[in-house]
Amino acid sequence: MAQEETFRDTISTVDDKGKRIWIYPKKPKGWFYDKRKQLSYLLLLILFGLPYLKINGEPVVLFNVIERKFVFFGQIFLPQDLYIFAIAMITFIIFIALFTIVFGRLFCGWVCPQTIFMEMVFRRIEYWIEGDWTHQKKLNNQKWNAEKIRKKSIKHVLFWLISFFIANTFLAYIIGYEQLFEIIQKGPFKSFGGFIAIVIFTFVFYGVFAFMREQVCTTVCPYGRLQGVLLDENSLAVAYDSVRGEGRAKFKKNEDRASAGKGDCIDCRQCIHVCPTGIDIRNGTQLECVNCTACIDACDSMMEAVDLPKGLIKIASEEGIKHNQPFIWTTRIKVYVGILLVLMGLLTTMIITRSNLETNISRTRGTLFQKYDDEHFSNIYDLTITNKTSQVRDLQIKILEGPGKVELIGKELHLIEQAEVKTKFLIIIDKDDLESNIEMVIGLYENGELVKKINTSFLGPNI
Ligand code: SF4
Ligand code: SF4
Repeated sequence: MAQEETFRDTISTVDDKGKRIWIYPKKPKGWFYDKRKQLSYLLLLILFGLPYLKINGEPVVLFNVIERKFVFFGQIFLPQDLYIFAIAMITFIIFIALFTIVFGRLFCGWVCPQTIFMEMVFRRIEYWIEGDWTHQKKLNNQKWNAEKIRKKSIKHVLFWLISFFIANTFLAYIIGYEQLFEIIQKGPFKSFGGFIAIVIFTFVFYGVFAFMREQVCTTVCPYGRLQGVLLDENSLAVAYDSVRGEGRAKFKKNEDRASAGKGDCIDCRQCIHVCPTGIDIRNGTQLECVNCTACIDACDSMMEAVDLPKGLIKIASEEGIKHNQPFIWTTRIKVYVGILLVLMGLLTTMIITRSNLETNISRTRGTLFQKYDDEHFSNIYDLTITNKTSQVRDLQIKILEGPGKVELIGKELHLIEQAEVKTKFLIIIDKDDLESNIEMVIGLYENGELVKKINTSFLGPNI
């Protein structure tokens, strides 16, 4: 058994001396690959199109970490919304954990941009220029000649251009496409910072897709590293049906494999040849497996060719294969679903009830009531208002509930877009209305319309 498990001590892309083993995956084909292609092209369309779409004049998504401005579906989130961001992150992590517990690493193989770009863009260009895996291997091992120089040059120029395009899109998600176009129009000398960012991103993407490749999934990606703790024997994953397949042996025509004590695996190794991470799925669930399903297609085509039932490699749980049973909703999954629903409810409520005017009002520190004139007393307040919209707003302040009137003594309530204004004001009340503590409601108005109510209190002498 110790002998059988030695594959777990090493990763498939590193040899005994610690040198990288370059993977040449065979070009996949089959039902799953076709579906993956369709989904990938749809996701690529969304990924490249999203930065150019707007809702109510705001981008659909923007992650402007430089200006600390984030936009989701046209809603602007500023650092003041950190609490919503925190809940959103917890919800996202619970969702990822639940998805992984149920579906294993399916996200990696089917949705992750790294895999989509690698397998559906860069790898396909490589197949197109250099041919399938055996041709690629031959080309890499042969001496430099005109053919090798031509093929490698075309491939790397194309890789670099696509990386440049991805880098521009990536930047559009951070600064918005208007600013990106401005950088492009101004040129590298007038917009040096933006130009450097594009160059760095381009080289990072080029390095990842031309050289690092599956190493990102097998050694760098933190989500990949989490699999060991999230998956259990009930999680669905791309799995080899060892019950049916073992007793693996080469195919012999007209042989009754069952009577000969042989399993259905004909040991053709096609599942290994197509694997982009270079593993043998027959060894069981492994950390390197990105659930791309290429081995399912490869095995199915072999099963078809030798007239055996398809599905020797399939999406199933370890327990499901062992006991030939369908997927089970375990208590662990139910608990995660419960937590996720609560968090989603909380997040939705927070987003719906979130105001696009954030206010903070407090009596100026260290002050009590003051005598305003012979007939009136006043309290002094600090007011901070954050405008979370992209419009300039002019507000007025009035007392909604309680005696007296408001006198602004600080800045006017002229709010530029996505900025805050700090000001001071007095509440002045008639001496006949004085009490030791008067609860009040202040109203903020915009164009005569009430837009926000704020509760506060007026401090008077102890009467
Ligand atoms: S074992 Fe199969 S599903 Fe996993 S990465 Fe390799 S080919 Fe993809
Ligand atoms: S492709 Fe299927 S039959 Fe061939 S070695 Fe892999 S599991 Fe066995």
